[in-house]
Amino acid sequence: MFNKISIIGFGLIGSSVARCIKKQGLAKELVAVDRSESVCKKALELELCDSAMTDVRKGVEGSDLVLLAIPVGACAEVAGQIRYSLKEGAIVTDAGSVKGEVARSVLPHIPRKAHFVPAHPIAGTEHSGPEAGFAELFMGRWCIITPLPDTDIRAVEKVTALWEACGAKIEIMDVKRHDLVLAITSHLPHLIAYTIVGTAADLEDDTRDEVIKYSASGFRDFTRIAASDPVMWRDVFLNNREAVLEILQRFNEDLTGLQRAIRKGDGEYLQAMFTRTRDIRKQIIQAGQADYAKPTQPAAETQAATGRRKASGSEA
Ligand code: NAP
Repeated sequence: MFNKISIIGFGLIGSSVARCIKKQGLAKELVAVDRSESVCKKALELELCDSAMTDVRKGVEGSDLVLLAIPVGACAEVAGQIRYSLKEGAIVTDAGSVKGEVARSVLPHIPRKAHFVPAHPIAGTEHSGPEAGFAELFMGRWCIITPLPDTDIRAVEKVTALWEACGAKIEIMDVKRHDLVLAITSHLPHLIAYTIVGTAADLEDDTRDEVIKYSASGFRDFTRIAASDPVMWRDVFLNNREAVLEILQRFNEDLTGLQRAIRKGDGEYLQAMFTRTRDIRKQIIQAGQADYAKPTQPAAETQAATGRRKASGSEA
């Protein structure tokens, strides 16, 4: 599919894409680029790439496709660093969880001879780093591609083909819509998880110990989400400010409604609300988005991946 691919940021997402590329033979040459020497060493040790380096400029030389799999807040700076090293016709794409701000800040750094195709795979876990990745991560999951008005259609097709080969289903969306939808489906749930776990952490020592000791599945699930990468999530909230604040406003109003119902002893209101939310869960199951898709790879790999799949549930 490609002669040479460079992946900048070899963490959960970057290394999972690399595993797909290797497994499916999607590129003749794959370069891992990461600012951390130890990540580069690990990428080579795990045989996930043909070469690994910390120098981003050198890392993208001669590449047909460059994937930015780094925190959203770092994309513009890295795009600025690689702009003079990109070859004619190179496609730069990203995996960032926010699209509007990335598109706005990266595009000015893309030279006329290259193309930029923003994208976001809706798949992930709360784990980070090259060892956390796995090839089945994107299987049956959506990847939202958000082309800009002047984006070259052939470049969009190539990025589509890459994600489809990774097992993802493609949706084309406007950047603004993407950021609003993700604000409710991903960013707000993470904010709530960070809040609940933060509140528990602020309790007096003895109460906090009991919260940890008796943590029922509700709190436990929140702690898993709240264990997600702090830098990545800081960048998500700083870069999707408008949409998150809009959704947060609605959430606050709904929360006030529930608060009032509890105070007034309005069981009817509570039951109606909880019945409505149960239906949403049913719809998600029906849409096949409740858990990771059934893998089709050999047994040993399947087992390893299933273990990680059970522990996952914190996608951005
Ligand atoms: P990750 O596991 O933390 O990996 C990111 C890697 O990029 C780390 O090795 C990091 O190094 C490196 N890095 C950071 N800044 C860099 C720079 N300026 N130059 C080169 N390397 C740099 O993160 P991830 O979960 O793969 O997330 C990557 C991107 O995918 C983010 O934009 C995120 O929004 C998006 N995404 C994440 C998920 C998810 O659920 N995790 C899902 C979909 C999309 P250090 O460790 O030294 O910082």
